[in-house]
Amino acid sequence: MTLRLPVLVHTPAHSQLAGPLTYLSEQALAAGTLVRVPLGKRELLGVVWESPTDRASSALDPEKLRPLVGTLDGIAPLTLAWRQLVMFAANYYQRSAGEVALAALPPQLRDLNTPQLARRLKRHAKTTGADLPNNPVAIDSVALTEEQMGAIARFDLEVGPFLLFGATGSGKTEVYLHSVQQLLSRDPSAQAMVMVPEINLTPQLEARFRARFNPLYGDNAVVSLHSGMTPAQRLRSWLAAHSGVARIVLGTRMAVFASLPKLKLIIVDEEHDPSYKSQEGARYSARDLAVYRGWLEGAKVLLGSATPALESWYHSRPANEGGRYVRLEMPSRIGANAALPTTGGGFPLVRRVDMNHQPKKCVISPPLLDAIVQRVARGEQSMVFLNRRGYAPVLHCADCDWKSECPHCSAYRVFHKIDRTLRCHHCGFAERVPRACPACGNPDIAPLGRGTERLEEHLAELLANVRRPNSVSEQWSEGEPVRIARIDADSTRLKGELESQLARVHSGEVDVLVGTQMIAKGHDFRRITLVATINPDGALFSSDFRAPERLFSLLMQAAGRAGRDAGISGRSEMWLQTFHPKHPLFEALKRHDYPAFAAQQLKEREQAAMPPFSFQALVRAEARTQDVAQGFLTAASAAAADMIDVEHLTPHITLYPAVPMTIQRVANVERAQMLIESPSRAALQRFLTAWQAVLHATRQQPEGKGLIRWAVDVDPLAI
Ligand code: ADP
Ligand code: ZN
Ligand code: ZN
Repeated sequence: MTLRLPVLVHTPAHSQLAGPLTYLSEQALAAGTLVRVPLGKRELLGVVWESPTDRASSALDPEKLRPLVGTLDGIAPLTLAWRQLVMFAANYYQRSAGEVALAALPPQLRDLNTPQLARRLKRHAKTTGADLPNNPVAIDSVALTEEQMGAIARFDLEVGPFLLFGATGSGKTEVYLHSVQQLLSRDPSAQAMVMVPEINLTPQLEARFRARFNPLYGDNAVVSLHSGMTPAQRLRSWLAAHSGVARIVLGTRMAVFASLPKLKLIIVDEEHDPSYKSQEGARYSARDLAVYRGWLEGAKVLLGSATPALESWYHSRPANEGGRYVRLEMPSRIGANAALPTTGGGFPLVRRVDMNHQPKKCVISPPLLDAIVQRVARGEQSMVFLNRRGYAPVLHCADCDWKSECPHCSAYRVFHKIDRTLRCHHCGFAERVPRACPACGNPDIAPLGRGTERLEEHLAELLANVRRPNSVSEQWSEGEPVRIARIDADSTRLKGELESQLARVHSGEVDVLVGTQMIAKGHDFRRITLVATINPDGALFSSDFRAPERLFSLLMQAAGRAGRDAGISGRSEMWLQTFHPKHPLFEALKRHDYPAFAAQQLKEREQAAMPPFSFQALVRAEARTQDVAQGFLTAASAAAADMIDVEHLTPHITLYPAVPMTIQRVANVERAQMLIESPSRAALQRFLTAWQAVLHATRQQPEGKGLIRWAVDVDPLAI
């Protein structure tokens, strides 16, 4: 007998084939089974899916149905919970289920032919199950602090989800390790997932997990999943997780879709980090999906941060005020000498330099320079960061006012002195720096503003006469020049460069480290006692309402880089150069008072009806002209107005006018966007789902002519 099976394949996001396709099969196959199916002339990977409820498929002409090619033998079907997660993500983020499901599977499942895949599976079977110690004993390598024990006790007792609000260096990682260890020793098949924002920046975490768990559960106990892996590595990790051999999956946001049939615990470290939100395809938030997945699977969820996202913080308000998350607090730094009056609990002292009272146009103020020189003399390290790479953001001709605009984008090309190029950071267009102004021939074109490259050069000039102290073994009487290193996306482009530069910092070879926010995150620097930010003011007055939140968390994290070694934490300092030293954000930072900062921000957000007090979505449109991009959005918006009436959503949905995006042209494509807002998440969801059809239809009308693409971004991070 021949059966009809619904199979999910990767259909393009905007084809109207949003649901599963129907194929013929000689045998019944369980939902979740991986299969190969024909589509047109190609053969695709697919997942047997639940039958669609709307019966649309039964209308298909049976003559046209094609049989599936075969199943992927040796791989168990994906679980119901996994399929539900995919359906939820697709519905919530307004994409097709096929796109979400197939993007979540390792690409090699799709690309390898049947014999190749069979070989991989055989190899996989060989490496698993071997050399497990037959009696794993739980050993804690450290004695937990009282705060850690308190957090773990509540974590054990309550259901969650949990927000672990723990200062940098309070020992959150130890809490993660401990809760994973408890779970695995209690339940011989349980699996845990640990998510980190950027795995390249956190090899230390991976090392800590392997060191703790490989001796107990074998070499395959911990596997990683992130985009930096080769397709073969990804397949291996995925199979290990899917087959239950891997007990812990450590990964970036993509790991939230990993197949873990025995998932019992999900940890999201640095849960506030913007990189948990995908910026392409289905624009999902891995943090939010983790919470949902925990609920689906009956797994505990632990979000951790020193500066939680305001959404998470708000969810963790007391239950009697409507909070849904359990807040666990660990306010103190490990090994802090709380008795030191200046530092309060081992946190660096925050010093604000009022730039209104410093020499005009100075980049490094005299007191900051002095503080750096003192560090050098003591053999300690300093870190100076600036959120702009390259030498200067613009090249300028004072005679005719020419600026280094990108011919393809509405942005300036950045001057990189190292290879003498002008490079557009938006489209990648690069050219040699012209010898003279291309508009008027003036040979005197000058850089405006500064990036990390120029800051490094400037610091080298300022510190030219300073000498490092002599070490006993060195015979130079003079001492050596100060060593400056720069870490940013440019200096770490080649594989292995970041690691080797970090190693130089750790070994003490470097005195002053210059970089972008890349150096402010996560690294466990032991000997840095001064962290300085040159110009943080921009974010105070940004049009992006989330800018202050991001700045506060960046500065708190950066401050956390200073004085992690208990022996020198007493004199560690964080320096801010600002024209607004009395700004409440800096006042809160000085007291290391995230709750005060959050309370003030939430008050402003509530008054302005901003998230988390309202819910947002953006539709973005791209076209050759701004008129077409905006015209499409305006037409779809007009059509939506009627629909809102019919759906009785009138009081709940606000559609704002279409506007150009902040950088409105990138690579010769004009970009426009439209904001949709609602006080109710459910109403917004209902509207977006109904509106999909309108957007598709608008594209077919005259208003859609010339449109390149459009996409919906639910809960956007940047507006
Ligand atoms: P966080 O993740 O909160 O920034 P970590 O977990 O990295 O903090 O801990 C900071 C440092 O304190 C690490 O070097 C860690 O090994 C150490 N540490 C954590 N817990 C303890 C403990 N209970 N006793 C001693 N040292 C600890
Ligand atoms: Zn000129
Ligand atoms: Zn460009």
